[in-house]
Amino acid sequence: MTLRSNTRTVTRLEPGYMPENNNERKVNTERLSPVSYAYAHTKVRRARGSAHTLPCEDCGGQASQWAYQRGDEHEQSGWRLDERPKAGGVNRLYYWSPNVWAYSSLCVPCHLLRDRSADA
Ligand SMILES: [Zn+2]
Repeated sequence: MTLRSNTRTVTRLEPGYMPENNNERKVNTERLSPVSYAYAHTKVRRARGSAHTLPCEDCGGQASQWAYQRGDEHEQSGWRLDERPKAGGVNRLYYWSPNVWAYSSLCVPCHLLRDRSADA
């Protein structure tokens, strides 16, 4: 795999997603317009609070992170610098969503487990 240092965002939108073609869902689609990875996580914290105040959805321990769960209809993806301490400054394909309900509160070990099973 070639690791590149661009920050291009790849966005997939369903046909009919554009608000002007879908007045019924105007409010909803405006709120779920594509956002940056960083802003998506800011939105989750604003809407749902800090994950530290919640139990981990997998093990029941104390959660510490909001983890995006793949498969949301508004899913976005893009290459970003991997900011985990042991990542060694490489870029990785990240997925996220502007939908704040597509995230789970997880502790670090459970988040890593889920990432590993998603990468496999
Ligand atoms: Zn856990």
